[in-house]
Amino acid sequence: MDGQSLPTPRAKPPKPDIEAMIYLDHNATSPLRPEAAVAMTRASEIGGNPSSVHARGRAARAVVEDAREAVAKLAGARTQDVIFTSGGTEANALALYGAVYGSLEAEARITRIFVSAIEHPAVLANAAAIAERVAGVRMAEIPVTADGIVDVEALRAMLREGKGRTLVCVMAANNETGVVQPLDQIAKHIRDAGALLLVDGVQAAGKIPLAFDADYLVMSGHKIGALEGIGCLIAKEGAPLSPLVAGGGQERGKRGGTQNLAGIASFGAAASAAASLGDMPRQTALRDRFEAELIRRWPQTIVFGARARRLGNTSNFAIPRVAAETALMALDLDGLCVSSGAACSSGKVKASHVLSAMDVADDIAAGALRVSFGWNSTDSDADALLASLDKLVARANPRAAA
Ligand code: PLP
Repeated sequence: MDGQSLPTPRAKPPKPDIEAMIYLDHNATSPLRPEAAVAMTRASEIGGNPSSVHARGRAARAVVEDAREAVAKLAGARTQDVIFTSGGTEANALALYGAVYGSLEAEARITRIFVSAIEHPAVLANAAAIAERVAGVRMAEIPVTADGIVDVEALRAMLREGKGRTLVCVMAANNETGVVQPLDQIAKHIRDAGALLLVDGVQAAGKIPLAFDADYLVMSGHKIGALEGIGCLIAKEGAPLSPLVAGGGQERGKRGGTQNLAGIASFGAAASAAASLGDMPRQTALRDRFEAELIRRWPQTIVFGARARRLGNTSNFAIPRVAAETALMALDLDGLCVSSGAACSSGKVKASHVLSAMDVADDIAAGALRVSFGWNSTDSDADALLASLDKLVARANPRAAA
């Protein structure tokens, strides 16, 4: 050393205690359920490829097939129609590309994709890419009402107009508002029009029954307490489906690649745990109490989609003069995890296409906070959030608080 003093290291900001944080962002991802953790560990200890014929391979295969059965049960579907994928995004892409390419040679070729304006980007972006790349295929958006419900009459009019087979994409429930879509009604009109229906059931799975007639249904493991990186497409027999990823013939030749055994095992266990929907009345009561308290404390609070049927775990609201961007940071510092908009863009604050489609003004949408309860949420979590919001609102309205 030459006697010169070393620069003083800058103090690192303290690391947040992740374990102690209150997690109210289950629509973004729901923490691993204990049952899923056990199943995943057991599966990863097998050390066999589900396609191998020896005993270890057969043991791995049994895990995959048991999980397939559990996942099909959650969806009320046939076991053999389940195709495991890397998640909800891939499953939506497989359905969209698979349906369009799978029908190219058929007499009833898909030439139109109608997508509800509130779909997740996993549907919107893939549908747009197909319309851009595949000659003769166009895409159109189905509007929604101010309550965030797909406008069924507008869809009927769109189906009547023009020619060509149509693939209609309507999610079962929205990830931002939790608004549940009238799929029974929609499915009937789609049948009458000879169209095909793709339902993104990622948020609805494990929260409401998935009892509707879809040609393609998508689910994702991590939204129900399984690992991230696992999901499925359930494609009805006879629905056109060309594989996106060809390979060694796995998943009935519809999705090549050695299966994600631990992920699939966790998905099966989480699906079994969620299938009864047994925890939903408790989560709904928790959410309803939280919203009642929001309105009691700040009567000007707007709850988006409040007049519609919603998932019992989801609350998307704006408190006047509280900006979502500021709120997210302040809540984070208080040890609370919530979201400001679309699940997959948690952390990024940008105008929500869902709220815009519901005609919510930009300045109101800029205050939208999404709280999503889940299997491990408690009353005291909601109370802690309310206490933190109290501080925030007082800071935003200093004169009112004085
Ligand atoms: N569809 C909806 C409605 C979602 O909320 C999400 C994720 O937030 C996805 C699809 C994407 O699923 P995954 O994260 O498994 O790719």
